[in-house]
Amino acid sequence: MSYIAPAGTPVRLGEIAGALTGASAAAEASVCSALGRVSSLPAIWTISSGRAAMTTILQAMRAARGDDRRDEVIVPAYTCYSVPAAIQRAGLKPRLCDIDEATLGMDPAVLERRNFSRTLAVVSANLYGLPNDLERIEAICETNGVYLLDDAAQALGATLNGRAVGAFGDAGLYSFDKGKIISTMQGGAIACRQLRLASELDALISALPGSAAVEMSANFLRLVVYAVFLRPALYGVVRRLPFTGLGHTRYEPRYPITRLSGFQCGVAARLLNRLAELNASRRARAREFRDALTGMPGLQMVLPLPTAEAAYARFPIRVTEPETRDRVLASLDRAGIGATASYPLALADVPEVSAQVPAPERDCPVARRIAQTIVTLPTHGYCKPDTARRVRAVLAECLR
Ligand SMILES: *Cc1c(COP(=O)(O)O)cnc(C)c1O
Repeated sequence: MSYIAPAGTPVRLGEIAGALTGASAAAEASVCSALGRVSSLPAIWTISSGRAAMTTILQAMRAARGDDRRDEVIVPAYTCYSVPAAIQRAGLKPRLCDIDEATLGMDPAVLERRNFSRTLAVVSANLYGLPNDLERIEAICETNGVYLLDDAAQALGATLNGRAVGAFGDAGLYSFDKGKIISTMQGGAIACRQLRLASELDALISALPGSAAVEMSANFLRLVVYAVFLRPALYGVVRRLPFTGLGHTRYEPRYPITRLSGFQCGVAARLLNRLAELNASRRARAREFRDALTGMPGLQMVLPLPTAEAAYARFPIRVTEPETRDRVLASLDRAGIGATASYPLALADVPEVSAQVPAPERDCPVARRIAQTIVTLPTHGYCKPDTARRVRAVLAECLR
């Protein structure tokens, strides 16, 4: 049965073939200049993943700051588990800040009241491509003399008040993983505004090993499989096989930190060429979901801030009653629509994280409520204009 994957990028086989034969140095330069245009930041590097980007940025921040007592990094209490894993990998400690129901990002009113004496950096989330309240978060970081790392792993191409997400604060990151705005299977990039930090980053990244030839071949094969099997007619056949792994996330502090292969740079460069088109189609699907689902009993919309242009890696909605969520997901699944419960736990309830966090910070009621009620809908290029209408029909039946 035809099945719409929960997330993904429709990579074209021609783009993979072109990347295989193209010059890799030129591809890397092309990715950096495209991301320079998107972010309006002067310094860009590619790297093996978003997690690798986060660990490397934090290491650069630590070196630039030069104060070993500052070993804490404040993160939203609801975000990708890779974020605290990357912090641990950098030898630092995650600290949690509860989130705001409106943006699903850190609540600035909660952040403002923190003691920043041990803080090295604050990390944003911009989940599903919805910009956080970045202007206020940035101002709080400036006032308190701590770095802001703007995590745009899911928000490539999103803006707030005309400024690119990923370009707030001191440094930002993008991810090219399987479920992000563009995908090279794995991959990421760093953007930096600050000179001192940029020179630390440059030193760290120049010292990274290249991607091994076996890794590159494996990545090529995985990308071909991904590009072919993301099509709904085939995804329906393979989606129960373990290797697909779309829409799952685990806490894993061990991962390679290398440069991005020339082949992956080539794929990223080609996808970045059509970033505007990819995001326009995601936004069109989001508008259709919003029109179709607003006001339905049992559901709540999560709307972008008024000055935000979201990128919509996925379209988030919330069920008003947590006990209805499993039913909603199961009904959409039967209808061939890959909806997910996103990250199933607030970070305070992820055992590897809670073990590192002092008890008072584990009290994050909003993050827990979001973890229990969120549902994400797919927005990628294999969704059709009628997907929203189908979702509405399924939900009307199941929430009756
Ligand atoms: C995916 C993601 C990351 C990590 O990126 P990878 O490329 O998967 O390592 C970091 N932060 C957020 C918010 C993410 O969604």
